[in-house]
Amino acid sequence: MEQLGLFAAPQRLFTCTPSKLGSYEDCPRLYRYSYIDRPAPPKGPPWAHNSLGASVHNALKNWYALDPERRTPGALPTLLKATWVREGYRDEEQEQKAYRRALDWLEAYVAGLDPADDPVGVERTVATRTETLALSGRVDRIDQRGGELVIVDYKTGRSELSEDDARGSRALALYAIAASRVFRKECRRVELHHLPTGRVAAHEHTEESLGRHLRRAEQTAADIVEAEAVMAAGGAADEAFPAVASGRCRWCDYRSVCPVGRSTDPAEPWAAVD
Ligand code: SF4
Repeated sequence: MEQLGLFAAPQRLFTCTPSKLGSYEDCPRLYRYSYIDRPAPPKGPPWAHNSLGASVHNALKNWYALDPERRTPGALPTLLKATWVREGYRDEEQEQKAYRRALDWLEAYVAGLDPADDPVGVERTVATRTETLALSGRVDRIDQRGGELVIVDYKTGRSELSEDDARGSRALALYAIAASRVFRKECRRVELHHLPTGRVAAHEHTEESLGRHLRRAEQTAADIVEAEAVMAAGGAADEAFPAVASGRCRWCDYRSVCPVGRSTDPAEPWAAVD
């Protein structure tokens, strides 16, 4: 059978999301703790900034689930209360302040939206395949403007975002590729919507720049497959998946189990929302 090239076994696709690839690019050890080691190492306590982000994302998702005539700023307190995640805050006072702030962000944000607009997708999973990847991911929002699709990603962190962040985001580029294939429409524009400031950082991709992101994603997947093969062949797991120290370690879920992370000062779970 081997002589019959036509019947050669197809190459196995690497199943991934942008965040899975991103975790390896940030730190191979973080990838190993998250996706390979089983039982998974224990994570640290929940982060208040993740709770805040999830609450705001879910409130916006549910705002779009309302009938257009009910999509008003007045609907937001009920929506935000219903989706509020309480974990990680220092105390009730900090949590209440964060809730008030999140509501202000949402009210200002939806005031700039047309309630009659129905996005093509809200919290929509898109997926596609390449020769080596089976890629999927959930997009905060997919708009249709002027016959083209636009990828919208909500951000709730403290730091402001620039056009470079939109241009450099592999996740946004991969979402654009997948959305374009799923909906059979052009999708070049990607946007980061920073709710604390109302600022939108956008980038218009070209076929070439999307292709570059895709090649980088395929290269990362190839690196992961190679590291996994080294480990499966009995190579040292810590060498196959090295720990890469960075400012991220203080905020890493696996800081307490990682020898590199343990040597850094831990961030308080609520520090990023103060
Ligand atoms: S603590 Fe730092 S080095 Fe260790 S896994 Fe996390 S990000 Fe990587």
